[in-house]
Amino acid sequence: MMMLTKKMIEIRGLLQTVGQSDQLTLPSIVVIGSQSSGKSSVLEAIVGHEFLPKGSNMVTRRPIELTLVNTPEAKAEYGEFPALGLGKITDFSQIQKTLTDLNLAVPAEQCVTDDPIQLRIYSPNVPDLSLIDLPGYIQVAGRDQPIELKEKIAELCNKYIQPPNVILAISAADVDLANSTALRASRKVDPRGERTIGVITKMDLVDAARGADLLTDRKYALRLGYVGVVCRVPQTTGGLFTRGNGNIQKAITRNENAYFSSHPLEFGPETDVDVGTNNLRKKLMYVLENTMASSLKTTSEAIQRELAEATYEFKVQYNDRPLSAESYLAESLDAFKHSFKDFSEHFGRPQVREMLKHELDQQVLTLLAQRYWNRPFDDLQPPLPETDPLIELPKADPDNPLWHLKLDASSSSLTKLGIGRLATTVVASSLQAHVDHLIANSTFAAHPFARQAITEASTSILRELSYDISDELEICIKPYKYRIEVEDHEWTKGRESVTAVLKEELLMCENAVKQVENEVGGRKKLKDVMGFIDRVRNGQVVIEGSGIGGAGGFSAALLEKGREGVFLRDRVDVLKMRLMAIKSKQCANKKNKYYCPEVFLDAVADKLTTTADLFLDAELLSKFYYVFPRELEARLGRNLSQAEIERFAREDPKIRRHLDVVRRKDLLEHVLKEMESLRQLEAREKRGITRP
Ligand code: GDP
Repeated sequence: MMMLTKKMIEIRGLLQTVGQSDQLTLPSIVVIGSQSSGKSSVLEAIVGHEFLPKGSNMVTRRPIELTLVNTPEAKAEYGEFPALGLGKITDFSQIQKTLTDLNLAVPAEQCVTDDPIQLRIYSPNVPDLSLIDLPGYIQVAGRDQPIELKEKIAELCNKYIQPPNVILAISAADVDLANSTALRASRKVDPRGERTIGVITKMDLVDAARGADLLTDRKYALRLGYVGVVCRVPQTTGGLFTRGNGNIQKAITRNENAYFSSHPLEFGPETDVDVGTNNLRKKLMYVLENTMASSLKTTSEAIQRELAEATYEFKVQYNDRPLSAESYLAESLDAFKHSFKDFSEHFGRPQVREMLKHELDQQVLTLLAQRYWNRPFDDLQPPLPETDPLIELPKADPDNPLWHLKLDASSSSLTKLGIGRLATTVVASSLQAHVDHLIANSTFAAHPFARQAITEASTSILRELSYDISDELEICIKPYKYRIEVEDHEWTKGRESVTAVLKEELLMCENAVKQVENEVGGRKKLKDVMGFIDRVRNGQVVIEGSGIGGAGGFSAALLEKGREGVFLRDRVDVLKMRLMAIKSKQCANKKNKYYCPEVFLDAVADKLTTTADLFLDAELLSKFYYVFPRELEARLGRNLSQAEIERFAREDPKIRRHLDVVRRKDLLEHVLKEMESLRQLEAREKRGITRP
């Protein structure tokens, strides 16, 4: 029953996926031999393909861990380098090329390395075997080879031929066995010859009688015996099996059989010698299977130790907290949705209202400045003889059409501002900013992929909603574009509200003045340059030319600052003057709206805000609050593949380590269970065999 080896090879593959194979050595067959002993030819005969690096100066520099997997149902034969992720390679010359490249990649000064190349070959024509091909022993270093090479190869081989591995010692028939480096090396670690199989190659090169003698050697007696082979691929010109991708097993066997059967006396069925690649293959399977069986116990114990270690780490470092990529994603998503819900409960109509009103206040300030407050001079030139609206405003004659026109134009500017777009954009950007903030404070912060998915979800929903909402809102406020009635209580409220707005603006201007003072180096200096600018404006001083490059002993930069100071001072004056006006009796009554455009415009802004906040609350907030969590679920929940979830979770190094421990522990538990059932099977089998 050849199933232990297959199972054990599977188990080793599993252990390799969690990087455990180093500590847990399952027995392999280690192939050693001198250079040119025919080692590669034997391996290729077993596999049935030429796939090993060849060439006069080709020294194998890395061990090749060759796993053969028997696939009885399949037709195709292919190789795989699990560590390289190249996929299935059906062209064996490609495998040969890859192996050559991997060998050449080892720097010459390093000679050889014990970092193995893993290669798996799947075929219906190979047995389940685990072989390790090692660099061939060399006698004398070649011309361009370092002198330590010989030494290093011996060291490397020595590391691999330790128990529980089986040694496949290759020697050529045309070399005296006493000179076989492979047999000598094996003798050192296996003095009683219990786990060494001797292979004598090139049997065709010696006299048949001498060949048969070699196979029954008593001097180097091996319990597992010797097998004689002829592994040369027959060089029939143009032959079907000689070169290329065809299987060479048949050709070799035919050639071998022809040779051995032509010497029936020495190698025939009557003799007790063991010959032929087929026999060798069977022997390898049998020996490896038995070795696997006898190492089951120690391997189980080693896995148990590993498991104990992983369990300990899991307990101490992670408090036994179970974790999978799925559970991590689900928890993260839940926490995020929770924080979003929390946010949505605190961000409603009042918050929208405050935001919109603030935005409109700024618009009102701009309008006031444009239509009422700006003095007509800005430059370093004397003023034009024109009326100053600010001085005129308090005396405004309500019957004068100029003041009607000014106020009507201002309020119409406000209503025709495009409130629909403006308000929708303000609220949508605020929602987006809040979502960004929530992401930054969530576990998703460490996951670029999820961050992007969430951001995309919210931006696309907001974009889509905004499109219709801004148009619809514009329609809602349409009536205000034609006629605005302000009630008494609205007037009172507007008066209070605009006072606060102007006071805040005043404070900001005063702070800005201080800032300019600091920038020019003190209040006195600013006052001097502002004084100069004032004198120019009043026509007391005339500047020759444009004044670019400085004037009156002040640099251009200083004049610029001075102008900023003058602007701010004037603004402060205006604000103070208007605050007083609003406070006065005149502005207490809405009848005097032409005297008090600030109050009226504030009341208009308030009406617009009320319409907009109601609409946006119903249309934008509630819809977003409903759709967004569902979109998250779709993008990060249902629609992710297993691989994507895994990739997501592993983006965070802390989670990756946690997942690794859990995975290693689970895998070792699984492997241990498998091993236990194998041991039971094995025990039952033994009982069955030994029962009389
Ligand atoms: P390695 O260096 O030990 O891997 O040896 P190779 O497998 O490359 O073989 C060395 C040389 O011996 C090659 O030219 C092979 O063709 C030849 N060779 C291998 N096996 C046999 C054999 O059984 N009979 C004969 N006549 N030549 C062989």
